[in-house]
Amino acid sequence: MLDHVSTFTRSTVLEAQRNTLLEELWAKGIRNEAVLRAIAQVRREDFLPDALKARGYENVALPIGAGQTISQPYTVAFMTELLMPTNKEPSEEILSRYTILEIGTGSGYQAAILGAMGFRRIYTVERIPELLAEAQKRFTALGIPVMTRLSDGSLGWSEYAPFDAIIVTAGSPDVPETLALQLAVGGKMVVPVGSQTHQRLYRITRLHAGLDADAFSAEEFQTFRFVPLVGEQGWR
Ligand code: SAH
Repeated sequence: MLDHVSTFTRSTVLEAQRNTLLEELWAKGIRNEAVLRAIAQVRREDFLPDALKARGYENVALPIGAGQTISQPYTVAFMTELLMPTNKEPSEEILSRYTILEIGTGSGYQAAILGAMGFRRIYTVERIPELLAEAQKRFTALGIPVMTRLSDGSLGWSEYAPFDAIIVTAGSPDVPETLALQLAVGGKMVVPVGSQTHQRLYRITRLHAGLDADAFSAEEFQTFRFVPLVGEQGWR
């Protein structure tokens, strides 16, 4: 009985905290309807180790093991919003066609947000086996349709290229060229670029099918802190 009460209290508290988080994201400028709905829908505590579940709705990055972190909800919302064609709910046509590649599965939370938005072609790559195994368990348990791969994501996933959107959730010393070349024409990549501790977020758009730098445009956004992208096109 007491167990039941405490479970109830805990979920009520988490729900209140989730509403506070959504207000905070709104105050910080997140306006995309589908992104906000997905953040309201996905239980972030399901992507955290037991000891940290109670902190699921704090707007902070948290450790997930193997020296890695789950991103801050604001960062997830901001990056996802930058990849969306409009601020409205995506059309059925876009949801079924849009192909999205995530580099750095980590906890699986970012991929779950994309899944909750309704996207059906989500690919995610992680280099640490234990993290990928945990994330896969969560995708299966929660019924989230995500294709996973254990490999160096700085090299992308050429079998499923080109991608309409690429989201790199680890910091790179430069824009990984192999990844840029896996963008479809009109496709966009968000990638944090900088030192191993601080990065600026860039959005790269592919303008035409050429292979030179003039096939891409770049926009710069604010500074974030990501764990390093470790790989051939990242930090070695
Ligand atoms: N998107 C994650 C955030 C994970 S942190 C989430 O929602 O929880 C970044 C992740 O990138 C870490 O798990 C790290 O192991 C992974 N990573 C770093 N370099 C990588 C690479 N070259 N290929 C694939 N994953 C990489």
